[in-house]
Amino acid sequence: MADFNPCQSCGACCAHFRVSFYWAEAESLGLPEALTEAINPWMSCMKGTGQRAGVRCVALSGEIGREVGCTIYPQRPSPCHELQPGEERCLRARAAHGLPALPLSR
Ligand code: SF4
Ligand code: SF4
Repeated sequence: MADFNPCQSCGACCAHFRVSFYWAEAESLGLPEALTEAINPWMSCMKGTGQRAGVRCVALSGEIGREVGCTIYPQRPSPCHELQPGEERCLRARAAHGLPALPLSR
């Protein structure tokens, strides 16, 4: 059970926040243009996360709260690396999707 990753049965944060980053990050990660959208001349976001309602990253596969995956996991942008299971934003996203809180993993 040491490798248990709660994110694999969650995905709430991929369908709650705008996942934004400096535009050049997409280029350096080799992210396909079709998966991102411009916010302004400096910032881009993952497509599907820029709107107010119905947020869901286009790269998220599966069913939130059951079994999910990031289809671009090795290329995911910095906000996806930074958000840690159990932190405040994780708990907010999970609550918004009706999922219980997690203990902080670090
Ligand atoms: S960081 Fe939290 S909200 Fe995001 S997928 Fe993992 S458990 Fe879910
Ligand atoms: S790129 Fe992957 S980890 Fe990041 S929000 Fe989208 S599905 Fe989630």
